[in-house]
Amino acid sequence: MLAESARPTPSTDASTGHAAGGMPVVRMLDEQTIGKIAAGEVVERPVSAVKELLENALDAGATRIRVAVRDGGIGLIEVADNGCGIVRDELAVAIQRHATSKLQAFSDLDALRTLGFRGEALPSIAAVSDLTVRSKASTSEHGHAIRVQFGIAGEPEATATSAGTVVTVRDLFANVPARKKFLRQTGTESGYIQRAVAAYAGAYPEVAIEFVADDRRSFATSGSGDPITAALEVWGAEVGNAALPLEPLEEISAVAGVTVTGWVGAPSLTKSHRQGIVLFVNGRWVQNRALSFALEEAYHSLLMVGRHPVACAQVHVDPAAVDVNVHPTKAEVKFEDERAACRALSRATHAALARGPRADLPGIRLQPVPGAPAEVGGTVMPVHNQQGLSTLRPGEVVSSPSPTAGTPTVPWVAPQLQPKPSVVAIGTEQDAEPVPVHRSGVPVLRVLGQVGGNYIVAEGPDGMYLIDQHAAHERVMYEKILGQLQGRESVRQPLLDPLVVELTPEEMGAWEKSQAELGEIGFEIEAFAVQAVLVRAVPALVQRVDIAERLRLILQELASGGTGASWLDAVAISTACHTSIRAGQALSVPEMRELVAQLEQTTHPRACGHGRPTMLHMSRGDLEKQFERR
Ligand code: ADP
Ligand code: MG
Repeated sequence: MLAESARPTPSTDASTGHAAGGMPVVRMLDEQTIGKIAAGEVVERPVSAVKELLENALDAGATRIRVAVRDGGIGLIEVADNGCGIVRDELAVAIQRHATSKLQAFSDLDALRTLGFRGEALPSIAAVSDLTVRSKASTSEHGHAIRVQFGIAGEPEATATSAGTVVTVRDLFANVPARKKFLRQTGTESGYIQRAVAAYAGAYPEVAIEFVADDRRSFATSGSGDPITAALEVWGAEVGNAALPLEPLEEISAVAGVTVTGWVGAPSLTKSHRQGIVLFVNGRWVQNRALSFALEEAYHSLLMVGRHPVACAQVHVDPAAVDVNVHPTKAEVKFEDERAACRALSRATHAALARGPRADLPGIRLQPVPGAPAEVGGTVMPVHNQQGLSTLRPGEVVSSPSPTAGTPTVPWVAPQLQPKPSVVAIGTEQDAEPVPVHRSGVPVLRVLGQVGGNYIVAEGPDGMYLIDQHAAHERVMYEKILGQLQGRESVRQPLLDPLVVELTPEEMGAWEKSQAELGEIGFEIEAFAVQAVLVRAVPALVQRVDIAERLRLILQELASGGTGASWLDAVAISTACHTSIRAGQALSVPEMRELVAQLEQTTHPRACGHGRPTMLHMSRGDLEKQFERR
């Protein structure tokens, strides 16, 4: 290692800076002293050098970067990249002060797309270390290396090296003992470096970044391009699994000129400090209180007091709308419109949180209401009496009379009827308190709302119920059709204008096969042409639907075999299915109440005519268990 005194200094009393006569003398500092002073600004501690070298590699367009350090960066820092490289003649220039390939005039800063622009990093590091740059430009045949020992540069020499650049820094601050004294223990310095490399690896998922400390690999990203994958690779499963992607804002909440990318952690993952919040602006790692406050604000009531979220978020604005030249180590930036940046970050965070955790909320497990899956429509048709009670004896098993190929042939078990059918106990043993239920076995339900345009959420005496609106309505329709068949009531609804419906040959065949059954159910359909029928009346139950479309669906199902105990049953099931409310149809609360009330009146409310469950249940006990209240 070269000692400080080994390099030339002006002939001045080094301790006072005074000339022999005692008067202070104003003179130009020599290059090396200038370099050391400048280095103080740029290279505060080892992590500052690592950050500059890493930024140079990113600016060089590298897709693969390896950062290795030893002894907290004091012993060694080495950053190797596969970027564009530096040609021989420019090697000597790159290590000079204010030498940069990235900026020519001050106004270029407005359009700056690179992280570096001052041309200070390499000379500043070189002034306080033993630095070697080995590089091979993609356009050159040979590589070259240049060594600068504490500010004194050698000549570029040919060397064997692969395309890209390797910068090796040894004995950092060896010639500035004052700065070295202020450094922390090597473990702490190494921690700062790890945090910085991790931040860049998280924010540049498209670049494969590896970090090795004291010959141990700390992490490596794959360069997948996906921020969540990078989060997993850098910070591990706990953080990666909690990461919620920040996605483009919808048009109405978008902030002009600002976009936000990256991820924020689910509220379940918190820290007692804010260091888990990694912020980038235009590819630059920054500290910005306003931005981190905006991000945290989006969590408001979701976090406990004193806890902070984790995130790796990036704000993108027009380079002209942000001043990057306000801080010696470029750790801060000044926005033209900071509030807009904050608003965009806060809204994007809010949206990510609202979209919700992916794997991170435990999935709720609902049970089909007991007895549901096997109550296939066809099996119930002949066996109910006026009270709506099954004539099967408890436990009696009926097998499905004509199972269709592919339909599970689960035998139907008659429900264990209670002596007092209006109030029976349902639910698990530990909460076996009797709850009010309808004769059908459905508890009295209070409709709360709709999920996904398809499921009705309801509360019962024992917890929560989800009802499939289509399956429920299908069951209602099916039993109404059966009721009318048995009662021989007037079920027809004549159409004012008879409707011509064109059919395919298959549909036509199904119609011919089912004419009698369709007639019994309430359709009045005549042949009209080779491939068309004339619909004169439909079942009175069928309301507010496109008759032609629904008739075709019924005939299509029948053409492919149908499901049911008899052909009449198959026609009834198909009619019920295709004339009922569809999934995805928004219902008002009164409409949902009406539907649930009708379902409650059915004999077998727990499955649709095709045997799919109409409702799922989560008991109070299950809720308590899953929320870990007991
Ligand atoms: P700045 O990054 O501000 O331009 P530096 O002192 O960090 O200044 O680097 C000086 C110049 O050296 C850069 O402008 C660039 O042309 C070249 N350079 C530095 N590091 C690399 C690298 N890893 N790959 C390619 N060129 C580099
Ligand atoms: Mg640079």
